[in-house]
Amino acid sequence: MNKKQKNLLIRIIIAAVFFVPLYLISEGIVRVSLPEPAILVLFLIPYLIISHDILRKAFNGMKNRQMFDENFLMTIATIGAIVLGEYGEGVAVMLLYQVGELFQSIAVGKSRKSITELMDIRPDYANIEVDGEIEQVDPDEVEVGSIIIVNPGEKIPLDGVIEEGDSSLNTGALTGESRPRDVTPGDEVLSGSINMSGVLKIRTTTQFDESTASKILDLVENAASRKSRSESFISKFARVYTPIVCFAALALAVLPPLFIMMTKIGMDDYSGIGAIWGDWVLRACTFLVISCPCAVVISVPLSFFAALGGASREGILIKGSNYLETLSKVRTIAFDKTGTITKGNFAATAVHHSPIKDDKLFEFAALAECHSSHPIARSLQAAYGKYIDASRVTDVREISGCGVIAVIDRLEVAVGNEKLMEKIGAEYHQCHSVGTIIHIALGGAYCGHIVITDELKENSKEAMDALKKAGVTKTVMLTGDAKSVAAKVAAEVGLTDYRAELLPADKVACVEELLAGCSGNGKLAFVGDGINDAPVLSRADIGIAMGALGSDAAIEAADVVLMDDDPLKIAKAIKISRKCIGIVRQNIIIALGVKLVCLLLAAIGVANMWVAIIADVGVMILAVLNAIRCMYVKKL
Ligand code: ADP
Ligand code: MG
Repeated sequence: MNKKQKNLLIRIIIAAVFFVPLYLISEGIVRVSLPEPAILVLFLIPYLIISHDILRKAFNGMKNRQMFDENFLMTIATIGAIVLGEYGEGVAVMLLYQVGELFQSIAVGKSRKSITELMDIRPDYANIEVDGEIEQVDPDEVEVGSIIIVNPGEKIPLDGVIEEGDSSLNTGALTGESRPRDVTPGDEVLSGSINMSGVLKIRTTTQFDESTASKILDLVENAASRKSRSESFISKFARVYTPIVCFAALALAVLPPLFIMMTKIGMDDYSGIGAIWGDWVLRACTFLVISCPCAVVISVPLSFFAALGGASREGILIKGSNYLETLSKVRTIAFDKTGTITKGNFAATAVHHSPIKDDKLFEFAALAECHSSHPIARSLQAAYGKYIDASRVTDVREISGCGVIAVIDRLEVAVGNEKLMEKIGAEYHQCHSVGTIIHIALGGAYCGHIVITDELKENSKEAMDALKKAGVTKTVMLTGDAKSVAAKVAAEVGLTDYRAELLPADKVACVEELLAGCSGNGKLAFVGDGINDAPVLSRADIGIAMGALGSDAAIEAADVVLMDDDPLKIAKAIKISRKCIGIVRQNIIIALGVKLVCLLLAAIGVANMWVAIIADVGVMILAVLNAIRCMYVKKL
């Protein structure tokens, strides 16, 4: 509990200690004879203790002409009750209202805290070596290329490459994956991971603002400001709802007694008129208490917040509540192949038609690819397996969806698919093996091809089943790779459809076609690895980038970022969003339903203020507890 909450608790206790005996006296349960004015003054003590802040807020609101809020409702209702001589009810309403406020503030604070704790990846300091001594400095001050030292148990403050030391890292806060990752010199490490066993010397590769930890924190912090439609609806709703309720209450206080008076005109019997007025004004006050919209106003944003937090704990970053809403309606998903459904670690399985030595062919391929971050490029470099002298390579042009052309030792080398060979006019041989075929041409003359194949990710098939269970009816793979490979992959994982041999621009066209085919409310998601699919990511209703840890382009372009590359998380993200939207709906329906019933009961005079406030606080507590459920995601 923070100081403010403690204060409120103390005020509640003091006011209750005053209130209970007074109430018993005023109801005649305890017989003490006190004059009416004394009772009023005595009741005012707990009333002012418990409600002074609300009275002040209501007054300030009136001064600023923004008076229609719950403080105003509570003030008018309780003052009305006291003026009508119902002192006990006036104080009790405020007391219970404050109990509700206290509860809500603790619950919201708790969920906020547990989320920020889980997202606790902000590094506080970095250790650097100055003249043989280790010094702690602000991570902000460390320049790119410096050596930092990370001891066991410390957070890695900046992204970098290990120079010295072996250890295992806990990347749980980044990826939601609790299994430790072993690292050795040469490995890239990301800020926000925790060093578990050995001392590491790391050469930094980013500034603090550009580091993974800072980027993720930015993203999470900004998520709350992207409001969903239901959230903005609620705030608009509260703006028109409260004044309407106030005028309805005024009408309830004035019109029925006026009508009753009219019927009595000419009957010379005005006795009881005062009591009738009092009765209706009290009903109007009850009406005001009931109509306080807190349960909905508080629980809707809290649900979204909790869901965003729960998701990020699982390594799923959703950039705003609006995306949660879209995600819950996804019925069609388009996938990229390489790096999304398959691992993107190609292994070379054959070399065909090569007039030069196989070794040479690999060397040219690896050299030409030396600046590319495409999974194919990385795999060709790995297949070559020797030191790559990048100074031999100039004029590199990467042609998205086709391959690369570079100049190596003054010879133009083209490495890529059939489209690339057609572009440069090399007469390529078709290959009959099923696999991704990488053709190579030297100086425009065809030089053979390397057949590489990729493995499916362990979870790809399971992920498609999970998606089907989550209500996704159409799963389509869009790939730049050959038809034979696409067909094989699609059949193995159980996709409903595939399109092959697409350039990045064709993928956009395909997504547009799929969008046009999405009926009614169903939304389309595109899932990619962020390498050359940024345009599609932004064209789909919702773009999901996976394996995005460390890939800036993907983090920028996507609406949902899956920190590791587990395709099962797509279904999980959808489930989280559905659960959240479901809970928001439940809360709105329960809260408004209970209010409506109470309002009717109050209007006909059955419910009094006690019922009203208990219903209000009760519904609020239920709604808040329900909202917090959004944070917890069941295992798939
Ligand atoms: P995907 O849709 O499977 O992610 P891309 O659109 O990235 O594939 O690439 C499509 C095809 O273009 C690849 O299958 C490959 O034949 C060729 N290609 C793309 N980039 C490269 C590269 N750097 N080196 C060689 N071939 C490439
Ligand atoms: Mg790709």
